[in-house]
Amino acid sequence: MTEQKRVVVIGGGIAGLTAAYRLQQNGAQDVNVQLVEASERLGGKIQTVRKDGFTIERGPDSFLARKESATRLANDVGLKDKLTPNGTGQSYILVNNKLHPMPSGSYMGIPTRIRPFLFSGLFSPLGKARAAMDLIKSTKSVDEDQSLGLFFRRRLGNQVVENLIEPLLSGIYAGSIDELSLEATFPHFYDLEQEHGSLIKGLRKTTTVSKRKKGEKKPSMFRTLQGGLESLVEAVESKLEPGTVLKGTKVDHIERKQDHYHIMLSDGSVMEADSIIMAVPHFAAQRMLSQYDFLEPFKETNATSVANVAMAFDESAIKKDIDGTGFVVSRNSDFRITACTWTHKKWPNSTPDGKVLLRCYVGKPTDQEVVDYSDEEIVEIALKDLNQTMNITEKPEFSIVTRWHDSMPQYKVGHKDRLNGIEEQLQRELPGVYLAGGSYRGIGLPDCIDQGEAAVAKVLNYLS
Ligand code: FAD
Repeated sequence: MTEQKRVVVIGGGIAGLTAAYRLQQNGAQDVNVQLVEASERLGGKIQTVRKDGFTIERGPDSFLARKESATRLANDVGLKDKLTPNGTGQSYILVNNKLHPMPSGSYMGIPTRIRPFLFSGLFSPLGKARAAMDLIKSTKSVDEDQSLGLFFRRRLGNQVVENLIEPLLSGIYAGSIDELSLEATFPHFYDLEQEHGSLIKGLRKTTTVSKRKKGEKKPSMFRTLQGGLESLVEAVESKLEPGTVLKGTKVDHIERKQDHYHIMLSDGSVMEADSIIMAVPHFAAQRMLSQYDFLEPFKETNATSVANVAMAFDESAIKKDIDGTGFVVSRNSDFRITACTWTHKKWPNSTPDGKVLLRCYVGKPTDQEVVDYSDEEIVEIALKDLNQTMNITEKPEFSIVTRWHDSMPQYKVGHKDRLNGIEEQLQRELPGVYLAGGSYRGIGLPDCIDQGEAAVAKVLNYLS
């Protein structure tokens, strides 16, 4: 590259921030990077509130340690010492209004050890026998994508799906297991079935879950940062060259010119770019390129809404404490909350001594209206449900309700094919324009960071 090329990153969530940071690291003086963010702050869905000694996450609370890009990014921006593993402990599933311990040795709800599963009160003898059929049931190879529900129901039966797998997966995707794509969410489960003839056998061979000795502590799978995940946003932002970020400015439209692009901004100005990374949700990308039909398939990808409420108490308010880190709720329970994290136990640094911090979610796909209830109503719903298992005698000292409208993109069956088709067309019609972020190839923070980094590699390749 000879003259400086102009790269515009649209969207300052973790995908866009990573992209801007890595471009400045890798592209050095050959590229001029601008990041345009609609809101007055960076971080997108990552939002931390620091209040009265509590660290409260409004959005994501951690990331999977196994996927290395988030840890690497934190290390690179100087946060190595702030990385914190989750406190491990028993987690529970609420089925038919009763808390059941998660059977030990289960991996995303799939049993890898027989004994804990046999003794679990989560399933009837028939349900257990049906799940065991996974060990002998023939495999089915398919050319097309299938739903998570179809796949797991065929292998393990309805009970394991409804009482274990679906509440766990709903906690991640906030969607319907019978609509979500296996290929776009957990493709390795299909590979395990094909390679080992059984999910249980495949997981026993390939994971360490079943190999822990008796009494050995559960390894922590998640990481956060002391001071909250927003510390990552602040640290990455501080590494960007001065003048990189334009906040409070929305991209309205993108036009292709001969060998570059015009980006129309909400303040009426036009920014020019040789290459663009669109690190925004799919519906925002589609609006910016509304003149092109090939983004229409994004309309198949709806996004569900959820709300969460963080509630702070004095320890004395919890009359019946449960040893553990939290629970998820099965759909066949009367509860309106879908999950509760005992945050003070999962993340001890988040809470001052002598206090308790609980975070509950509402907003099943069949109960979307609850997201727009008033703060008081959401707190009341959460306390009513919690009191069925915990006995909380006092109102919270304070509570923080966060609503996330249309924020959980649903990777429905066929998602990957649709996305591949859109990206191929994008390259033909708009060379040098790339997509990255939670709407596309993985919603977890490490997936979004991976996508930001992958987009940078494509941009540099395109420009050279
Ligand atoms: P976003 O964070 O959505 O950022 C996109 C940015 O683009 C926003 O800042 C937005 O303002 C901006 N933008 C939009 N339109 C325009 C425009 N026209 N012009 C300019 N800017 C625009 N993942 C985990 O790994 N662990 C968790 O514990 C976890 N929990 C979650 C809990 C909740 C409640 C939610 C909602 C998500 C959770 N996730 C979790 C998922 C993860 O947080 C997201 O997938 C990820 O943060 C998305 O990052 P992103 O950069 O792709 O998008």
